[in-house]
Amino acid sequence: MSSPYCNVALPVPLRTTFTYAVPEPMQAALQPGSRVLVPFRRQAMTGVVVELIEKPPQDTKLREITRVLDFVPALTPKLLELAEWIAGYYLAPIGEVFRAMLPPLTELKTQRLIALTDAGRAVAESLSGGELSHGLNGAEVAFLAKLKEKKGTLPFALAAKLSLNAAALQKLQRAGLIEIREIVKGRERKTQRVIAWRGGSAPGPDSPTRNTEDEENDNAETQSAQRKRGEERVRELLETERGPLPLPQLLRLAQVTRAVIGRMLRDGLLESWEEAIDPAEDPFDTGYTPPAHELNAEQEAAMKQIRARFELGEFGVQLLHGVTGSGKTEVYLRAVQDTLARGKTAIILVPEIALTLWIGRQCRSWFGARFEGVAVLHSALSDVERAREWWRVRNGEARVVVGTRSAVFAPLENIGLIIVDEEQESSYKQEETPRYHGRDVAIVRAKMEGALALLGSATPSMETFHHARNGKYELLTLASRVADRSLADVEVVDLREEFQQTHQTSPISTNLHEGIQECLANKTQALVLINRRGYSWSVLCRSCGASVQCVNCSISMTHHKHRNRLECHYCGSIQPIPKLCPKCQSKYVYFFGEGSEQLEERLRKEFPGARLARLDRDTARTKRQYQEMLGAFAGGALDILVGTQMLAKGHDFQRVTLVGVVSADSSLNLPDFRAAERTFQLLTQVAGRAGRGELSGRVLIQTFYPEHYAIQDAVKQDYAAFFERELHFRQMMAYPPFTSLANVIVRDVNLEKAIRWSRQLSEYFSPHDGKEVRILGPATAPLARLKKEHRFQFLLKSPKRSVLTKLLGGVLAHCDAKEIPQTAVLVDMDPLSLL
Ligand code: ADP
Ligand code: ZN
Ligand code: ZN
Repeated sequence: MSSPYCNVALPVPLRTTFTYAVPEPMQAALQPGSRVLVPFRRQAMTGVVVELIEKPPQDTKLREITRVLDFVPALTPKLLELAEWIAGYYLAPIGEVFRAMLPPLTELKTQRLIALTDAGRAVAESLSGGELSHGLNGAEVAFLAKLKEKKGTLPFALAAKLSLNAAALQKLQRAGLIEIREIVKGRERKTQRVIAWRGGSAPGPDSPTRNTEDEENDNAETQSAQRKRGEERVRELLETERGPLPLPQLLRLAQVTRAVIGRMLRDGLLESWEEAIDPAEDPFDTGYTPPAHELNAEQEAAMKQIRARFELGEFGVQLLHGVTGSGKTEVYLRAVQDTLARGKTAIILVPEIALTLWIGRQCRSWFGARFEGVAVLHSALSDVERAREWWRVRNGEARVVVGTRSAVFAPLENIGLIIVDEEQESSYKQEETPRYHGRDVAIVRAKMEGALALLGSATPSMETFHHARNGKYELLTLASRVADRSLADVEVVDLREEFQQTHQTSPISTNLHEGIQECLANKTQALVLINRRGYSWSVLCRSCGASVQCVNCSISMTHHKHRNRLECHYCGSIQPIPKLCPKCQSKYVYFFGEGSEQLEERLRKEFPGARLARLDRDTARTKRQYQEMLGAFAGGALDILVGTQMLAKGHDFQRVTLVGVVSADSSLNLPDFRAAERTFQLLTQVAGRAGRGELSGRVLIQTFYPEHYAIQDAVKQDYAAFFERELHFRQMMAYPPFTSLANVIVRDVNLEKAIRWSRQLSEYFSPHDGKEVRILGPATAPLARLKKEHRFQFLLKSPKRSVLTKLLGGVLAHCDAKEIPQTAVLVDMDPLSLL
């Protein structure tokens, strides 16, 4: 059983594993799935053991593992299998897949405990006379007796003192007599240090965002330039990308030392404070959990189909297609209840963090007491919280996991059900390596576990509904809202007519203005949606027509009035507001396109007495701010909430009678084959926020294209009609669900290199273009430059996914042969966005 060598996956962007020697004393304890500390190049790194091997590859001198970090392998064999699948399907380095799966490595101590199982207790009792049986030796029997005496648990370290080695412990573990658990102790800290950008000042002439056109001579980089870069990265993270961050997370993301942060604090660039980290503390928590309802007839029918599936006891996919407010959550909870009753475990995936809290709380009230636990996993938890929750799941203490995308990797065993709520949401797709889709991985995992994947949505993705229609998935339908509530009335405001009458363009039409007025008079609430943040999303020159672009990306800079500067929403760079056109020096610079900041300003002017707040990534920078604002709205402390898509999802506000969509067109105009689908989904979801309580709701959609089918069908809230028309379009254009797509981006800061590599890739691709695969490109990517890198794009289409996978597998080998760095080629399988 003991193997002298093992292959380890490391979190590096290389598509190989590395062989290490296992020192003798560690051999017994090492299992696939364990994390280990190993020397790699000149540093120590944590990796995951993927396999144990008897013989090393020929005559190489192998380095040794430094330490085994898990006695209980962090990853189960099923998760290892899933990781392999993801690495293969999404062409991701396996080490990076593991990184996405594993809990954060925290500085905190984990304590290893040995616990007596029921079987172990029975054996210990039957052997109380000290006689040997069950194939146990004297030391082992004595150990079981000791465990029993100590109420069934002992710290792991004590085993050695009782002269029991790792092999003996494994033997007892395999015999089911003991369990070994990792408990995250996490220095019981109640607060953590949070760092924030102090901000306010626009960048001066010495601003870190200089135009660094001289990327070529990066060899003679001075220390001060390196330091500037570190500081700039910190600023980007804190100011534009993430908002305030806990110190350890900041250090990790920015890759800077504590000294850098200390200096920036002293220089007054940053501020910091202590913030509570108790995961139970949840400002959004009003203590309100909806009561369990008697299921209505439709819900009951859906449950019946779900139970029938469970009876079969095998893998299956069901789509719960229920209009907004039809009570899907209630069905989810019953399905979980059924799963638990069958002795299995369940995962509920939701598209965003706020929903994990809401559904997590309902789960706790349903299952918390009876089944020890519900775990919540999402990215806004601190590392300590996340590690603790993760190990609770791994130790079998929690049997229900609620979480966002990465919770699909929750280390549960014996899974019976995986629910994917709002399965069409793009937040399920990870837009960095590994570029997996949480819903699709959920289905694959369910298949590996012989479990049921239950996808829920009011507006299923084209792919999912297509499968449901052709019988690959089973369709469950909730056609009406609960308690005979009607769907909200949706009306279109034709902005062309509006313009003819008023001769001005205001983001708030006369209709919308009157609607809000009515809400205020009736003391109900209004939501107003706009899909861009900032004040104006473009700065143009009337003289030469140029717009102000980011220095790193081919994208317009957004004007932020309050912060008094321009920002790039893709890379976080900033610029002072230009007085003259940067291209032609004319002074006719003007701002174009309303963003949420401007909309808020206008609403405040038009409704001076109203209690109003804006919710977008600029105002809701922390989990706390976000929840406080939603909490204030839900609690009735606000009349109007203005915001971006963040508002559209899931929330169950009872007193909203009006939802206004400022412009339906901005999502319709994107150069993307999913534009119509996204627009329809967004509008339908938004409409679903109105009239959820006793009061009926009204939705106003402002648009310049009222005749577009995405808008027409959203007005009628007619999913079936939209699906048919869109399907027809997809078929004509050979897009998913009729073909599979892969997007391949070649990128480099050096333009010549990017061009050369695209040519070389083209040589590989062109002979394959034809019968089974269509290869479009290389073309300049829609985002031609991003974060200083030039980008070229190939789009691969094939009716057979396996053909794509095979072709792409060859790309990597081709890159190696042509010495194209692996990081220069980005493969996105089943891309959601083609930008
Ligand atoms: P969906 O997710 O389908 O939009 P929800 O699950 O949020 O809908 O349910 C909407 C509301 O209906 C919730 O307030 C929920 O408590 C309530 N509800 C669910 N099922 C029933 C039922 N059978 N009878 C009455 N109310 C219900
Ligand atoms: Zn100009
Ligand atoms: Zn940029």
